[in-house]
Order: sequence, then C-alpha cells, then structure tokens
Amino acid sequence: MATEKRTPGIGTLCVQAGYKPGKGEPRQIPIVQSTTFKYETSDQMGRLFDLEDSGYFYTRLQNPTNDQVAAQIAALEGGVAAMLTSSGQAANLFACLNICSAGDHIVSAGNIYGGTFNLLGTTLPKMGIEVTFVSPDASEEEISAKFRPETKLLFGETLSNPGVEMLDIEKFARIAHSHGVPFIIDNTFATPVLCRPFEFGADIVTHSTTKYMDGHGVAVGGALVDSGNFDWEAHADKYPGLCAPDPSYHGLIYTKAFGKLAFITKATSQLMRDLGSIQSPQNAFYLHLGLQSLHVRIARHSESAMKVAEYLENHPDVAWVKYPGLKNDPHHELAKKYMSAFSGVMCVGLKGGRDFDNRFMDSLKLITIETHVADCHSCILHPASHTHRQLTDEQLRAAGIAPDLMRLSIGLEDPEDIIYDIEQALAAAHV
Ligand SMILES: *Cc1c(COP(=O)(O)O)cnc(C)c1O
Repeated sequence: MATEKRTPGIGTLCVQAGYKPGKGEPRQIPIVQSTTFKYETSDQMGRLFDLEDSGYFYTRLQNPTNDQVAAQIAALEGGVAAMLTSSGQAANLFACLNICSAGDHIVSAGNIYGGTFNLLGTTLPKMGIEVTFVSPDASEEEISAKFRPETKLLFGETLSNPGVEMLDIEKFARIAHSHGVPFIIDNTFATPVLCRPFEFGADIVTHSTTKYMDGHGVAVGGALVDSGNFDWEAHADKYPGLCAPDPSYHGLIYTKAFGKLAFITKATSQLMRDLGSIQSPQNAFYLHLGLQSLHVRIARHSESAMKVAEYLENHPDVAWVKYPGLKNDPHHELAKKYMSAFSGVMCVGLKGGRDFDNRFMDSLKLITIETHVADCHSCILHPASHTHRQLTDEQLRAAGIAPDLMRLSIGLEDPEDIIYDIEQALAAAHV
C-alpha cells in the first residue's frame, strides 16, 4: 500500500493546483468581476497600502481569480510565485523592467520570438536599457564575453519561435550565474508539461499564455513565474530595486520584507500599479479552463506533430523540415534531454519556390493561414509572404528567417486528416 506522501504529477496539477474551493463553494473557479473591494475600517485599508497586510483593493494590481490561476502556473512550473499579465509581451517587459533601469544591459539569445526581439532590440534601448544578442549555440566563452559590469540578466527561449531551436538551458544558467545575474527563460512553446526550466537552473520563467496554455485561440495573456532561487541580496549593489528602500512604499525593502516572494511582490505592487497591464479576470478564467486540459492536449499536439514531421521529411516536394523530435535535427539530443515530448510546432521549406509555396497554402482546406500558433486548430504562416513581407530575401536571411520557411502548427484534428490535407495541397500546387 502506498503510504509515503506522493508528489502530485503534472496532470493532477493541471486539473487541481491553484484554486481550492471550501465547503459549499463553486467547484469551478469563480470569476471575480469586480474592480474594487470593500473594507470596514480606515486602518484596514491603510495597512494594505503600507504592504503590511495582504488583501485585494483594486483589480489593476491584483484580483482573486487571477491570483488563483497564477498560483496554479507557479505550481506547474515548480516556482514560489507567479503573476498574470495582459499579454506575453507584457510578461517579458515586466521581467526585464523589474530588474533593469536606464543604464543597465541585457544579454539575450538572438533567435527569440519577433515581438520579444523588437521589445529588447528597439523599445528597451529607447528607455536606456541596452541589449546584446548572441547566438544561443555560441560557446560559453563567446557568450560570457558579451557581459558587462552593468549586465543585469540573461534571456532566452526554451524552444524558439519560429525556429523551434532547443536552448541549452543548463549552459545558459551556468553563464548567467557565473556573472551573478538571473537567467530568464520564455517557456511558451514547451509549457511546464514538457519542460520545467527551474529544474535546470533557470531563475524566472515567462509565458505567452495565449499559446498552448489557453490552447483554443480565445484570450491573449501572459505570465511571470519566479523560482525564488536567485539570491538578489548576494548581489545587492546590482539590484537596488529589490534590495534598497523603495521610496514609493515608505522605504520598504522587498527582499527584507518578502524574502523569496520579493520579485513577484515588486512586480505586482510597483510595475502593475504603475504600468497597469493586468489580465482581465474573465480571461484568467478562460486560461484556467485551458490549463485544466493542457497535459492531455500537449501530448496529442506532440504525437501528431511527430507524425506530420516524419511524413514531410519523406515527401519529394519538401526541401527540409525543422522539428526537434526528428533524429537528425541539430537540437534533437538537447530536446530529448530537456523535454518529455517535442511540442506541436515545426518549420518546413518546400522545393518549388515562392509561387509554389503560395499555391500550396491556397490549396489547404483544413490547415488555415493564421499569424497564430499553438492552439487546437492546425495553422500555417509563411513569414516571407506574411509577417515579414516588406523584407527582401537577403534581409530575411539576415534576420535568421529562410525565405522558404513556413511555420506549421499542428492542432488537435486527426493527424491522418492533417497529413491528407498537406498531401492534396502539395499535389494541387503542381498544376
Ligand atoms: C507569442 C509569443 C510571445 C508574445 O506573446 P503575446 O501573448 O502575443 O503578447 C512571446 N514569446 C513567445 C515565445 C511567443 O510565442
């Protein structure tokens, strides 16, 4: 008989972590659709604003529905605390701004999602934060050489969007820690079901919950999760925002007052207060619904994607396929080390040229043309014809995007139907 305390599996956490109803309370998470919260005495309200008591007062900062879903994501990632944001962009912005200010510097993998690349490469520099991009496959010495005294964090993506390149998480964690800075990783494409970056040394995880976590193409959202492992106080001179008095809270010091919760508390009480990028409680409810089946869905996405990748690899019209599950993929060994399955997104290049690509896409009946990825509907995007259409082939290559690259996101339809659709569209593209 099993009497030892059992740690719940990831599937159980997907269904049950976070919201814990009491006697007679709703089984499904309630949507607390209220901007504000009531108190009985002036002192009760005052203590909230001194951060002496915790409690809800205004949904721009915190809302019970959001907090329960954030607690669930923290449990899934194995972190100490999390917060929901209005989008994945906001999550990555908050992760950086919670640590960096004007004069600081960031080192980031260069193969990251285009939106994050713009945020780091264009918008943060306007705020006085410089960013150096590195090839994620460069040696530890080469990446280390980009660090400066004012470097405050290292950034990367578990599985890059759109290139689906697996990051060597332990290598990045080692480099960050040897420079006394945290390693922040965007875990959107892997999800905590396939990879939990904290187990490999990452300090902070971000998500675009818009993708697999939501999984149905319903709500834009993001999340920020802290492992609680990075020792800010050991580098107190580098992180005054966390380790020195905050004048906007009567000189409170986050690390002293909140210990391992310092990072998320500061992000909530300072950044959310001032920048107001909260997720709506209604969207948090949709996200929660998505999370409850994440483990089942991501397994199916991965299984079907493997079948489609193997089919494409053997098709005479296909020049190349990039999917971390394929044995000859340059990142296959790393992907096997860090992930329990290979997720549902792949890239493919066809042999026929741009007109052929367009005839192929126009002939698809089940797979739809969308800028989105990672939900239940199979979809395709050709950056050279869509998101990056203003670039020449040379400019595309310089941005790391092959002109023939098509991003294919495998949904939850029957894999045989997805393959049939590709088969008939390739045939149709020849005429
Ligand atoms: C989509 C995406 C983002 C941005 O998220 P939004 O929810 O669209 O703001 C960030 N990182 C990755 C890896 C993404 O795929």
